[in-house]
Amino acid sequence: MELNWGVHDAFTLQNYGENILGARIAIPRILQLFLKYDIHATWAIVGMLYCKSKEELLSKLEDLEVPYENEAFSPKSNLWQVGENEIQDPYHYGHSLIDTIKSLPNQEIGTHTFSHYYCLEAGQRTEHFETDLQAIVQLNEEITSLVFPRNQTNNDYLYVCKKYGINAYRGNEKTWIYSPYTSKTNTRTKRMLRLLDAYVNLTGHHTFPLKSIQKEPIINIKSSRFLRPYSKQLAVLEKLRLRRIKNGLTKAAKNNELYHLWWHPHNFGKNIEENLQFLEEILKHVDYLKANYNFQSMHMRDVIDVLKIIS
Ligand SMILES: [Zn+2]
Repeated sequence: MELNWGVHDAFTLQNYGENILGARIAIPRILQLFLKYDIHATWAIVGMLYCKSKEELLSKLEDLEVPYENEAFSPKSNLWQVGENEIQDPYHYGHSLIDTIKSLPNQEIGTHTFSHYYCLEAGQRTEHFETDLQAIVQLNEEITSLVFPRNQTNNDYLYVCKKYGINAYRGNEKTWIYSPYTSKTNTRTKRMLRLLDAYVNLTGHHTFPLKSIQKEPIINIKSSRFLRPYSKQLAVLEKLRLRRIKNGLTKAAKNNELYHLWWHPHNFGKNIEENLQFLEEILKHVDYLKANYNFQSMHMRDVIDVLKIIS
């Protein structure tokens, strides 16, 4: 969960603002579905969303100077359009949403870094990432799970995560089109292949058994699939997209493996009904697998706990 902090360098509020406001509507509805189907989920939240006023945000960002070569990556480049608080500016504050998430059972609060930090972009170094994580520690949430912004896993930074009590992250699928990329190495070919892979089985299902999980320096709970948003242009292919995910889940359930599905709330922010309906179809299938194959829903911390028990 990031609201506009996840996309301020890529889109304007004119062309993506609807998705951000829609995310605020989608979040409680997603939570309702999670409750109905007993889903344990990890919410990787951008730390800046905790701030209650611009004053608080500015004071937190004061210590956090990240010298990206491309200044647009810095949240400071976006401050001109940040309002005073959540009521005035629903795009950049989210503490009421965080409270809603925390009020429901089996929802883990994780982190997506404090400043939506880009771990592989040029200019930033380890010490800047460390300062970012210190701001996360100050939130007093006992956070143990992290999702790297833009999936930019930096292996050196895993040791910094460990130092601050973060013992799990979501790694990337093990195939070249999903391996960590920067703004410069995310080629059109990779983007096209990832899109195609959402509909037809190009790269497999990326399910994996617990015993295969890499534990050092911290636990890598790899992604199996990004849940793409509904697309009007590709609506005729929706059945394929759903089948692709269901097949992956079935494979995981039958083989006692994990399937790690993820998305951003703002992906549901447009075509909210279609996206929620699609999610419910997935969750109905999970229900079927729970009943027939002893399949279980786990958030990232549940996986850590299970690994502790079996090791
Ligand atoms: Zn992000």
